[in-house]
Amino acid sequence: MTDTIAKDCTELLARLGVDAALYTGGTLHSFSPVTGERTAELPEQDAAAVGATIGRAAVAFRAWRDVPAPRRGELVRLLGEELRASKADLGRLVSIEAGKSPSEGAGEVQEMIDICDFAVGLSRQLYGLTIATERPGHRMMETWHPLGVVGVISAFNFPVAVWSWNTALALVCGNPVVWKPSEKTPLTALASQAILDRALARFGDAPAHLSQVIIGGREAGEALVEDPRVALVSATGSTRMGRQVGPKVAARFGRSILELGGNNAGIVCPSADLDMALRAIAFGAMGTAGQRCTTMRRLFVHDSVYDALVPRLIKAYGSVSVGNPLTTQALVGPLVDKAAFDAMQSALAAAKTAGGTVHGGARVAEAGPEAAFYVKPALVEMPSQTGPVFEETFAPILYVMRYTDLAAAIEDHNAVGAGLSSSIFTTDLRESELFLSAAGSDCGIANVNIGTSGAEIGGAFGGEKETGGGRESGSDAWKGYMRRATNTINYSRALPLAQGVVFDI
Ligand code: NAD
Repeated sequence: MTDTIAKDCTELLARLGVDAALYTGGTLHSFSPVTGERTAELPEQDAAAVGATIGRAAVAFRAWRDVPAPRRGELVRLLGEELRASKADLGRLVSIEAGKSPSEGAGEVQEMIDICDFAVGLSRQLYGLTIATERPGHRMMETWHPLGVVGVISAFNFPVAVWSWNTALALVCGNPVVWKPSEKTPLTALASQAILDRALARFGDAPAHLSQVIIGGREAGEALVEDPRVALVSATGSTRMGRQVGPKVAARFGRSILELGGNNAGIVCPSADLDMALRAIAFGAMGTAGQRCTTMRRLFVHDSVYDALVPRLIKAYGSVSVGNPLTTQALVGPLVDKAAFDAMQSALAAAKTAGGTVHGGARVAEAGPEAAFYVKPALVEMPSQTGPVFEETFAPILYVMRYTDLAAAIEDHNAVGAGLSSSIFTTDLRESELFLSAAGSDCGIANVNIGTSGAEIGGAFGGEKETGGGRESGSDAWKGYMRRATNTINYSRALPLAQGVVFDI
């Protein structure tokens, strides 16, 4: 087993076109959560190297911003083609590095392809408004210009999709990208860069260093965050990270897109289709071993359907298959590392202390070697929303609570720090509309009759409050990657002033 993963990894990297010098003999050791085995030793960049990388990106910006946007879109179209050609290999590498099932690994690459398609169309639609002016003989409009160097910091759990959401948009918007991937998933980053390099070679005349990867940990990320030449820092990760990054970028008046933790909930109403709810909750709470930012972590079930739903859910938790995602059909793969396992166990202990009844949650030793951490997902029946329920624990724990009044349940739903994703299960129009209304869910994503996870790229993705307020991906998220100029043009021979102000000299 041990040899298999490392060998598999090396073969995949070679096929994906990654230079072996980039992952050999260095100080950053990467591991596969599937077996706990070391997969590579990558040379890291120190702060000076990060500075030099940003300098090269700044030079690339001066050339790329002048390339017409539809031509910039052509590069992203080629990136989409290259991703299609590499989908199987990159998907498998995602599975090895992040521990996802093959279907989820491939799905992550499909998401990269989807955002490329979206961004290609966008490259001809970076629209500004024409605005009515109060002055005769004048015209007013707004123009969207490239912003500058975009720094991307990403988390381990979506090791490549988050880069593509940012990069596809940044490139069509006229910006170079410097990417600091998670230190837990550097190999998929090198592979993504190699894929983009192939698209760049086919494109022909793009400036050098349009997209660069920095390998390193938190210090490398800090160097990116603090550099005033980085116009936009798009940072995905924990709220703890966002609390450090946000103020630093703000202090230098840089722009940031923060995509941070979630504590996502579902509400099951009396009229819900319980069979559908059961499947949606199972995927939302147990899928990806609870390691999605949108994982369902809290569930409010109406008293009248609690006994019809929750015992079935507990049964599903008991019977779900846990195991090696590469060699078995298991639905639940490993936790990323021991720290994630320890955090899960201490949250479960705290839940017990707070009066919770825990179902599942134990380590499944036979699912993997000693250095890998497989667990049975945990469902915890809580007497109320208290203790660890308020926190995001990045592991498969679902806290289940009863409710009787929907308005009160929505209050509880909103009473946590994070504000990423939410869903309601109901066939009652009044209940679903209340949930989607101004008095309803306070999250950036609010769904009806689907779970909290599994967003499509067409919508803007992100959340409120401690989730950071950023938006990425579809809709008009592209505006975060450009600067807006309002232009007023006087084509008359007079100089009327706005608001009727007179200043005759
Ligand atoms: P993490 O916060 O530990 O690390 C994320 C990235 O930030 C890494 O690349 C890390 O090196 C970097 N980093 C950490 N501290 C930094 C600092 N002070 N300055 C600059 N960079 C720094 O997160 P993780 O464990 O990799 O990922 C899990 C977390 O990410 C969860 O909280 C999850 O909800 C969140 N997440 C959010 C989204 C979203 O879109 N909202 C998506 C995926 C994951």
